[in-house]
Amino acid sequence: MPDLGDLYQSLILDHSRSPRNYGEPPTVDRVADGRNPMCGDTVRVWLALDGDRVAEVRFVGKGCAISQASASLMTTMVKGKTRAEAEQLFGRFHDLVTGKPVDEESRSALGKLVALAGVARFPARVKCASLGWHAMHAALNEGPAEAATVSTE
Ligand code: ZN
Repeated sequence: MPDLGDLYQSLILDHSRSPRNYGEPPTVDRVADGRNPMCGDTVRVWLALDGDRVAEVRFVGKGCAISQASASLMTTMVKGKTRAEAEQLFGRFHDLVTGKPVDEESRSALGKLVALAGVARFPARVKCASLGWHAMHAALNEGPAEAATVSTE
């Protein structure tokens, strides 16, 4: 079992250098912008839905490595999930990075995201790590025609 600190560093580095699912998809059903004024991070998250399932989730953004890496990780975890599963994962991730107790079932659902648990020790970083997730959540819950804007402030 690798050290969680090392795993955290390598995950953040990997995803901030080579963000996954980056750029606007050809088909868009939902879009939301997220802003974290504390750190200056921005993300835009696009969703394409297939019935109740998230068929495609992509993003662009600017800001610190944690905000961008976490948004990239979010896209890899949410793609293919139902709306309910995506929302549940958002809740579990939010508990993890805000230092709430996370049970075994949540831990296994979070998978490699568990490496971000250390963010809970740095309150200013929680907003960076959760920005992409808040935007995904806002996009899921907005009407198709509107661009939602969420701020972590
Ligand atoms: Zn940040």
